[in-house]
Amino acid sequence: MNFKDTIRVIPDFPSPGIRFKDITTLLKDGEAFRAAIEQFKDFAAQRDADVIAGPESRGFLLAAPMAYGLSKGFVPIRKPGKLPHETLSVDYALEYGKDSLEIHKDAVQPGQRVILADDLLATGGTIKAAIKLIEQLGAEVVGICFLVELTYLNGREKLEGYDVFSLVQY
Ligand code: 5GP
Repeated sequence: MNFKDTIRVIPDFPSPGIRFKDITTLLKDGEAFRAAIEQFKDFAAQRDADVIAGPESRGFLLAAPMAYGLSKGFVPIRKPGKLPHETLSVDYALEYGKDSLEIHKDAVQPGQRVILADDLLATGGTIKAAIKLIEQLGAEVVGICFLVELTYLNGREKLEGYDVFSLVQY
């Protein structure tokens, strides 16, 4: 499966100079979507994952089918103010300004083995925030998978010591 051919690059979105990797074209290709989830599932199974977590919103599209396929739990990591029960929150830097992510305090248990999934690794800020949330709850991040990695942004450097897998690199 040539996954790169299923990803569409949109120039100047969402702002001038950015070449946005549009993964909706991969998702709507049934064979590609299935093949991607199968690879992510294998990655998670090999690492004996207990739980699959993903950041809002494109992370949900990957983490949820992985969890379903493995009969493991899915944990959403969300933008502020969305989760109804007690939450833990972490701030992270954006190119301009900052954002935060939240998780339910009872979403994972200490010692659980967690796989994180998201569509794309750019600077690594988003996934680093997700890692912090999982670790602050005492669970372990045993692997991280992405559809796309923008290698020129060196996000992997922020993830030293973690087991990182990406399907497509630019
Ligand atoms: P980072 O925090 O690594 O700099 O940015 C990654 C986050 O931004 C991911 O959650 C991803 O959804 C989003 N993102 C940034 N650039 C792109 C892009 O070109 N395409 C897609 N699909 N998502 C992007």
